Amino acid sequence: MNSNPRFGREASYSRNVFLPITNLCRNRCSYCGFRRDPNDGAWFMSPDEVLELAERAKTAGCSEVLLTLGEQPEVHAEAKRMLEEFGYKNTIDYLENLCKRILELGLLPHTNAGLLEERELRRLRRYNASMGLMLECATELPAHAQSPGKDPKLRLKTIKAAGKLRIPFTTGLLVGIGESFEERIRSLLALRELHERYGHIQEIIIQPFEPKPGTPMGNHPRPSEPELLTTVALARSIIPDMNLQVPPNLLANVRHLLLAGANDLGGISPVTPDFINPEHPWPSVAELRAAIERAGFVPRERLPIYPRYARDERFMSKEVRERVLELADEDGYRAC
Ligand code: SF4
Repeated sequence: MNSNPRFGREASYSRNVFLPITNLCRNRCSYCGFRRDPNDGAWFMSPDEVLELAERAKTAGCSEVLLTLGEQPEVHAEAKRMLEEFGYKNTIDYLENLCKRILELGLLPHTNAGLLEERELRRLRRYNASMGLMLECATELPAHAQSPGKDPKLRLKTIKAAGKLRIPFTTGLLVGIGESFEERIRSLLALRELHERYGHIQEIIIQPFEPKPGTPMGNHPRPSEPELLTTVALARSIIPDMNLQVPPNLLANVRHLLLAGANDLGGISPVTPDFINPEHPWPSVAELRAAIERAGFVPRERLPIYPRYARDERFMSKEVRERVLELADEDGYRAC
């Protein structure tokens, strides 16, 4: 989908602020070190906390506000109580208002809220440049035995609904959580099918599993670098024109990844840590750009929305379009 004639010699990244809106979640994935129970370290960020960090992100030159949260947090009474304290009936009402205010600040929201219904996606689309949901794996795995929201049929249903609504969409595979090589192929084929139908998948993240101490998979081995590189090359061969991202703080060798077929090194947050993998700090923008150049590629800063979509009005609301025009250059990358 990347129509840039230099595709293949460029490597993009985005500058964002990572906001962990809540770590309350209805699922219990065996590898998760982010989720917390009520009264055991759970939080829900208040509007003031969100907007203060968004302001700092703007000052730091970010274009993207990445809102990440556990799925359907209201299954916990504690989440309902906190939302009521903020003046909201449910998570979608709250997210919609946060994204509206972030957009008004001059930044572009990108929300990852787990499974969503079409009507919920439609509401959030108005104030989000792009949205995301990791497929992780298109087949059922023991790691998801206590996670009803990780049913691959339901994940694919949400990704399909986003396609019908023309939402530029980020998804991906979580590599090394017990899936076979064949299952990775099936996951990529399932995403390719949806993308061929709706044209909305703007990137696929190939995310390596990271063991978290104290979780049921705390001693499970992380994928080796050759395994990760092979998966990147496999994705490049199955969906040749797809943007492929490997997160910049989890990768081993930038040159190897770019040569294997990755063309994006993800979002990096100069303002907040990676709350999902806090043991791995983000590189600085300067470090990441230098690593890309040393690998023989040209670094390009993008928005949360990829260039091909930033130039296509069908994939954004009027409100988002106004901000994209302010922030993008004529190629659809981040204007200097
Ligand atoms: S859905 Fe996400 S936040 Fe919830 S348990 Fe699984 S990995 Fe953790």
